[in-house]
Amino acid sequence: MAGNGWGRNAVPLCAGVALGGALALEVFVVLVRLRRGDGNGHEHEKAQPFPFLSLASLLFLLGNALENARRFVTASPSTRGVMLAGAGQGWDYCYSCQTHVPPRCTHCFSCNVCVLRRDHHCTLLGQCLGYQNYRYFLCLLLHGAAALLFGCLLNASVVMSLQQEGSPVQTVLLLVMPWLMLLIGQVSVTTFIYAFVTDVCMVGFLFCTGFLLFHSLLTLRGQTTKEWFEGNRQYDLGWQSNLQDVLGEQWYLVWLSPFITSPLPGDGITFQTRKPRSEPLPKSRDF
Ligand SMILES: [Zn+2]
Ligand SMILES: [Zn+2]
Repeated sequence: MAGNGWGRNAVPLCAGVALGGALALEVFVVLVRLRRGDGNGHEHEKAQPFPFLSLASLLFLLGNALENARRFVTASPSTRGVMLAGAGQGWDYCYSCQTHVPPRCTHCFSCNVCVLRRDHHCTLLGQCLGYQNYRYFLCLLLHGAAALLFGCLLNASVVMSLQQEGSPVQTVLLLVMPWLMLLIGQVSVTTFIYAFVTDVCMVGFLFCTGFLLFHSLLTLRGQTTKEWFEGNRQYDLGWQSNLQDVLGEQWYLVWLSPFITSPLPGDGITFQTRKPRSEPLPKSRDF
């Protein structure tokens, strides 16, 4: 397949675009519904203005997430086309690629190539997480989590308004077990759909947030997942340098948009290590 793995990743990317589009469309319907009435069939005498700000916020989050996903897949962190001249301290030999590889570079058997500063292979997007695309991965998780939380809250507000005449216990049961409530005939199909979308968004939000928190912690500690398991912190240069190493020189701005250029300070081949702690001075004896 091509070096950027586009062919291999076309399916997950198209699925992501379809899911993002479906969420945007669904939220659009919710916004129209909330504007037209209270969701319970009781239309307001005077229609509310359409919440363009809410829709614009959702489109901003979804657009950011999808562009970050595209860049995550296309900014390949593999060693293909990278000059790996010589071997030094910390270098290894990859028998699959039949070449010397730099420190923190490991072979991915799914991508069938060595990956610079490899973290793990993302099965959902079919791409390895490594030196060149870590920024896009973190921003994808951030904007994806925010978009899913947004969709979850909006749908939950419709469910609440539809359940105004039901007891709070019934509303909680509907959100926890929507299928059961539909099967026993306690809710209409429309209410079930809103509750189901709320749940899907909540699960997606928790999934993205969990990954985001874990990888933010790794970034601040200057570690990959493998190094975290090994307790290896030799590349930890302090939180600010660690952030710069992963997010680039404009590390404080990249969260806003994937279009903000932020060159990485290194080359993914050589890495600065922290200074070894100085030996403790021998205790002076009191005479
Ligand atoms: Zn290899
Ligand atoms: Zn891989």
